[in-house]
Amino acid sequence: RRSSPQDSVVVIGLGRFGRSLALELVDEETEVLGIDEDPEIVQAMAGSLTHAVRADSTKEDALRQLGVHEFDRAVVAIGTDLEASILTASLLISFGIENVWAKAISEAHGRILTQLGVQHVVYPEHDMGQRVAHLVRGRMLDYIEFEDDFALVKTNPPAEILDIPLARSAVRTQYGVTVVAIKRPGEGFTYATPDTVVKAEDTIIVAGRTRATERFSELR
Ligand code: ADP
Repeated sequence: RRSSPQDSVVVIGLGRFGRSLALELVDEETEVLGIDEDPEIVQAMAGSLTHAVRADSTKEDALRQLGVHEFDRAVVAIGTDLEASILTASLLISFGIENVWAKAISEAHGRILTQLGVQHVVYPEHDMGQRVAHLVRGRMLDYIEFEDDFALVKTNPPAEILDIPLARSAVRTQYGVTVVAIKRPGEGFTYATPDTVVKAEDTIIVAGRTRATERFSELR
């Protein structure tokens, strides 16, 4: 199968964030054109990405020569150099690329990217800090919050819901959360049902409003 730029993703900036993102895409069998201005970084990534090239992404000619304007998806993974991030994002938008993701390192940076027309602005440091705060604070093993005040939490079950079917433990009415999945020791996750009986050694995933999932995970 011949690949086209439409199947592929261009990742600009192969620092810690861009590198990790690019490698994950390759792992999931997406073709990646990685661009960085640092020749050592490009050389180090050359064996791992579909293509890795050295170029200054603030130069329109350089991007056009690489065919970046033909891509549907692009990621600007430049954080520290604000000017480079903004100039690069602005070029990608002017190319008409439909899905541009860009990493922002501050609120002001994110606001400018949004004003330029970047469709997906992400704040990796900020978001990860919040997420880890939830893990540090309670007994959560993992935590994902969605923008509409809704969260999914992986946690150990509190004593109140053990050894009786979930339907009888009334977690939904009492705590405002729903147990969506359960993992027995040594097994994988399966969906929870009203008949599921949770044991102390199990791990569960609950869904609900952010505050409700926090309160639930603080129960002993
Ligand atoms: P991280 O915090 O994820 O490591 P950085 O902002 O430190 O992110 O790294 C960004 C990467 O982007 C660096 O590898 C840098 O060489 C590259 N970069 C910065 N400016 C440009 C540019 N104009 N063109 C291409 N690559 C760039």
